[in-house]
Amino acid sequence: MTDSVKNNLAVEIDHVGTVTAPGCINHPGRETTLRCNRCDMPICPDCARKTPVGYRCVGCVRQQQSIFDTVVWHDYVVAAVISFILSGLAGALLVRLGWFVIFIAPTVAGIISEIIRRAIGRRRGKYLSYVAVGCMLLAGLFNLTMWGIVYLAIASTTLYARLRSVSI
Ligand SMILES: [Zn+2]
Ligand SMILES: [Zn+2]
Repeated sequence: MTDSVKNNLAVEIDHVGTVTAPGCINHPGRETTLRCNRCDMPICPDCARKTPVGYRCVGCVRQQQSIFDTVVWHDYVVAAVISFILSGLAGALLVRLGWFVIFIAPTVAGIISEIIRRAIGRRRGKYLSYVAVGCMLLAGLFNLTMWGIVYLAIASTTLYARLRSVSI
């Protein structure tokens, strides 16, 4: 312990008189009795995040979320491009089949979701399904025939469900 730390401690104890609650890790001036139940660091009510397993500090919450959000920015670009091009092509071809599109659309969407998942190394991301479905709908704007819309409705819901599933 250096002299300056000793002095500071002495001043603090002298000033407060008794040992008080520790300060928040982010706001050293704020005393708090709340602690993160994962890393046990003192946190003030502003810094505490209520989770199903109790109060946690922002750092721990973020760390937890990162397990479920592993995509990097270019994964979104890859997913967008694949979805736009493949779905656009598939839609343009499938409408020629007429009502048969109802049976083919889920399969096509399943294949597109699998190609996206492989292309991005099976990383996960909260917004991945929105981006992919958004681009699928965008491609569909160039194909607004009756069967084109039927294809789009079926394929987009299938793609959304596939990309949201936990097995990503
Ligand atoms: Zn923590
Ligand atoms: Zn704080």
